[in-house]
Amino acid sequence: MTFRDALRAAHPTDDELRTRRWRFVPYDRLTDAVGPLARESPREVGLVFVESRDKARRRPYHRRKLALLLANERHFALEMAAKGYRILYARGDGTFGEILRETAARHALPGFALTRPAERELRADLDDARARGLTLTESPDETWLSTDDDFDRACPAAPYRMDAFYREVRRRTGVLMAKAKPVGGRFSFDGENRLPWHGQPPAPPRFSVAPDAITREVLDLVATAFPHAWGTLDGYDLPASRDDALAAWRHARDHALPHFGPFEDAMSAREATLFHTLASPLLNLSRLTPRQLVDDALADLDAGRLSLASAEGFIRQVLGWREFVRHVHARTDGFRTLSPTASPAALDAAEPLPAAWWGTAPSGLRCLDTVVDRVWKTGYAHHIERLMVLANIATLVGVSPRALTDWFWAGFIDAYDWVVEPNVLGMGTFADGGLMTTKPYVSGGAYVDRMSDFCDGCRFDPSGRNAQRPCPLTPMYWDTLGRNRARLATLERMKLPLAAQAKRSDAQKLHDEAVTRAVRRCLREGTAVPADVARATKGG
Ligand SMILES: Cc1cc2nc3c(=O)[nH]c(=O)nc-3n(C[C@H](O)[C@H](O)[C@H](O)COP(=O)(O)OP(=O)(O)OC[C@H]3O[C@@H](n4cnc5c(N)ncnc54)[C@H](O)[C@@H]3O)c2cc1C
Ligand code: SF4
Repeated sequence: MTFRDALRAAHPTDDELRTRRWRFVPYDRLTDAVGPLARESPREVGLVFVESRDKARRRPYHRRKLALLLANERHFALEMAAKGYRILYARGDGTFGEILRETAARHALPGFALTRPAERELRADLDDARARGLTLTESPDETWLSTDDDFDRACPAAPYRMDAFYREVRRRTGVLMAKAKPVGGRFSFDGENRLPWHGQPPAPPRFSVAPDAITREVLDLVATAFPHAWGTLDGYDLPASRDDALAAWRHARDHALPHFGPFEDAMSAREATLFHTLASPLLNLSRLTPRQLVDDALADLDAGRLSLASAEGFIRQVLGWREFVRHVHARTDGFRTLSPTASPAALDAAEPLPAAWWGTAPSGLRCLDTVVDRVWKTGYAHHIERLMVLANIATLVGVSPRALTDWFWAGFIDAYDWVVEPNVLGMGTFADGGLMTTKPYVSGGAYVDRMSDFCDGCRFDPSGRNAQRPCPLTPMYWDTLGRNRARLATLERMKLPLAAQAKRSDAQKLHDEAVTRAVRRCLREGTAVPADVARATKGG
């Protein structure tokens, strides 16, 4: 059965169009677990869904991202229809605002209620529709775990610090607190969560859902209607229904979460997701709620199924980082208070994004090429791969932070402006000059070598012992510090690295600079960095 046929019975009669209250459901708020849909009667309300091709064509989104979003939106519409809601499901080439205005006009509806969408870009579309006369009545988004007051109390002025915010939310909500003290005597167990992974415990099997007829129809649509899109649909197996989402979370809870903490920072060429939960694509569409994930992690801790380090490590991500970044995005109007085009660049970084990030011209750096290949295949890489491979190497090369952000936004199945912009412009590239982190996350080859097995099969040697083919990331790291010395000199946490860079001899500094130049040239030209690039540039 096609989606259109499946939805037919939920189409409203003329009488229902007149008598029901009509609510627009944003693509990123697909839930009736919290918010107005948890309280309203399905017999009194009609729901409007919109598929906008304009949105899908705005950037070369990963095909899996488009498929995930559309499959979930369609399944959610059917789930709501089964509960008795009447449904108007509109598709068109225009923006969300234009399609909503057409829908209101066609059915003579006075306007729509809606939950505030998380994505700024959608809010901007809706503001435009409002300005053209559409009545939209917005209610607060109740899926978040923290409030503006939490953020204001913890971070009254810039710079904003996640640990202050996290402590404030823990105190206010009582999560992992006992008698006003953090459980285990500390707010964070981050220091214990830094083990590399050498194959044990075995990584969990991937959670996989066979596409049903509704999802297969979406896959056909994505394959044909969006030729500009990136990434592959091969082996598509992502959750689409609420039951799928719950099963995916059950799987993560049983198999990944127990080992989440210690291996949080580990990377491996053999296993892509390790003990990460893959919850973000579902959380960001509201198919899962952060409340449920935190409550379940607390229940598992109480039941002895989860160590405190794993429970706290996971809760810090969901209650801490995820909430923190959305407040930073809101507080800075999507970084426009730093730069009118949301393109801050505090460090020396204006290079275009090399083709290596699109996977069309491999860089020869095994860590980068492996992770890019994963993103092409799945639209996913875990946090440390994003931070210490994709963003780190872009920063060492001096790539424009906005160009990198746009790539992340297009390429990842969990990317929406409120979460991708702070993570790339703030955490990943330090483009915000320290608005939300105390230092740039940059490193040479030693970090990747310590936390992964990528270097084992690489043409370069991260230890520097093999003088024929030393890893270029290390001289590039030193060069990045040197190039940005004036910008980094005020940062307490950069004092030691800057002092170490200053002690390098003039010949070494010239060499660092020459390696950076040579790697940039290769990546710009789309050729792999040669194994002897660092040796060939010795002495400048
Ligand atoms: C450069 C860069 C870009 C990123 N882009 C995105 C993005 O587009 N969308 C996105 O959801 N996350 C993004 N993140 C944050 C983080 O990497 C992902 O949330 C995480 O990797 C998702 O995989 P997971 O669900 O398996 O996470 P897990 O490791 O299992 O973590 C659990 C949950 O914590 C939340 N979380 C953890 N860290 C963050 C964070 N820094 N910001 C927001 N939520 C966090 C996520 O919801 C995640 O599902 C980015 C991080 C970096 C460094
Ligand atoms: S040797 Fe350098 S380039 Fe190769 S995988 Fe390791 S860190 Fe990456």
